[in-house]
Amino acid sequence: MERSKIDDRIEQIMKDHRRDYPRLERELKKCLKEAEKDGEIMLIGKISLYLSMCYFEMGDRVRILSHAFKAVGIFENSDDMTLLARSYNLLGIGYGAQENYQLALASYNKALDTIRGQRKPVLRKEMILNNIADCYYQMGEYQKSIHLMKGCLSTCQKKNPDNHASISVYGLNLSDCYESLGEIQQAKEILDCVEPDVKTLGEDSLVYGYYARRSVIHYRLGDLEKGAEYADLTLSGMNIIHDLYEFHRDFERIASLEVQANDCDRAQKFADILSEYANSNGHTFELIIAKRVQASIFDARGDRANALELYKELNDLYEKRVQEQNAMQYESQKNAEAASREIAKLMKKIRISEEKAERDPLTGLMNRSALVSITNEFVQSAKEHNKKLGGIFLDIDYFKEYNDTYGHAAGDEAIKYIASVCLGEETSSIRFFRYGGDEYFGVILGHKDEDVEKLALRISETVHSSGYQHIKNPNGQRLTVSIGVVNVDMKDSDYTILDIIKYADKALYHAKDRGKDVVFAYHALANSEHEYRRVRT
Ligand code: GH3
Ligand code: MG
Repeated sequence: MERSKIDDRIEQIMKDHRRDYPRLERELKKCLKEAEKDGEIMLIGKISLYLSMCYFEMGDRVRILSHAFKAVGIFENSDDMTLLARSYNLLGIGYGAQENYQLALASYNKALDTIRGQRKPVLRKEMILNNIADCYYQMGEYQKSIHLMKGCLSTCQKKNPDNHASISVYGLNLSDCYESLGEIQQAKEILDCVEPDVKTLGEDSLVYGYYARRSVIHYRLGDLEKGAEYADLTLSGMNIIHDLYEFHRDFERIASLEVQANDCDRAQKFADILSEYANSNGHTFELIIAKRVQASIFDARGDRANALELYKELNDLYEKRVQEQNAMQYESQKNAEAASREIAKLMKKIRISEEKAERDPLTGLMNRSALVSITNEFVQSAKEHNKKLGGIFLDIDYFKEYNDTYGHAAGDEAIKYIASVCLGEETSSIRFFRYGGDEYFGVILGHKDEDVEKLALRISETVHSSGYQHIKNPNGQRLTVSIGVVNVDMKDSDYTILDIIKYADKALYHAKDRGKDVVFAYHALANSEHEYRRVRT
């Protein structure tokens, strides 16, 4: 399928199955197969990026990373900075989900570097800074986190005051940092400040996140009544919260504050939700939190036996978690290595097919469509290092008659033979192309006029004396070529390769006009005058 069609389909799939992640995964994987079949590397990168996002939503912490890794590998070799920044950001999220915060930070910083200098980055800087702040928060570096979060919040309030969701996120995170530092009053003030933004969000899980934070802060300020009121409000949103992942730490905190306030009944409600959530997904970390909360409630109620039982289970779970994390890191490492091998293979395949498209199959010379891109380096180098740039244009003489006389296959042989003569002259500063049917063009970097002319002369004489017969050619009944050459100073000029081609072509035309089997050189004179100099008679 055509690239743009797959691209449109991917965007449609992302829209159609926005929240149905297993379905999204299946559909994206189908597209991935097609893109791989067609060798569409940019699409493969994009689908990997979306799959990584999908795995993030599904809580699959190993696969977020391996797909983000693949996307990064692909976009690093492209010029799409937006997709590269998004991939780095996801790589950071992937590392963060594995609690590998150093690597997460490195990835987020790469994302920041990538969007730097973009006039309108699709990925907003604050989103990345927010992720960086979260890393610092998780690493216990609250001051750094606060510094970044404050910046995000005030920038967003100034530049995007209508983006209530982002303002709410930044505010809740900042408040959380202050609370972790024990600066409860500050934490409360931040919540007060973003309250109007939160209130605009309607039935959004962020609103319940806000209630949860409020509950924690009121409890910590000793206002048990308000703490309980917000705890109840938090619980009232359980039916709209899709995934408790973002909430379980808050719930643990609320429950433990309620236990301290001797409100075990209310704490039990949170413990039940945590336990149901943990049992449904079976994740060790969630089980630990659920059991930890339940154990503290048993303790507070004086039920020593049940509490002890849970503490024992917790010990095993802590050990299991360490093992799981090691295994996960090992698995991710393996996936990352596999992804980079896969990228290398894909890149190779694509390079080969690109080369194929640029090479003329008959002669093995590069073709005309590759000329501009391949000679760009020569042009730059000539301009930068004040070197001359030369062109040599060859065209077989009376080639129509050659085909007519000896047949098309023999014509092909003659074309191949002349290509081989040109190839024999190639060096690191001389490259030849098959320009068209019986035309060849060579680019020459940094040679004297005399040497360029000698090169043309050598080719012309080699062909003339090659022994290929051409009875319809009045110039000795043999195969011959006409050649036009030019060699110009590139310094302070605005010449492009197209000018070199044009002047060499003029000289070639002159050579044809003056009887063929000759070499003419084009010389630019003042006031757009020029002259042709016969190099070979
Ligand atoms: P002139 O001396 O003025 O260059 O005349 P010419 O007969 O060579 O005319 P021209 O360059 O216009 O014709 C090129 C011919 O080359 C026309 C075409 O049939 C033939 N040709 C182009 N590509 C191929 C090819 O790949 N193989 C063969 N055998 N012939 C080709
Ligand atoms: Mg010709």
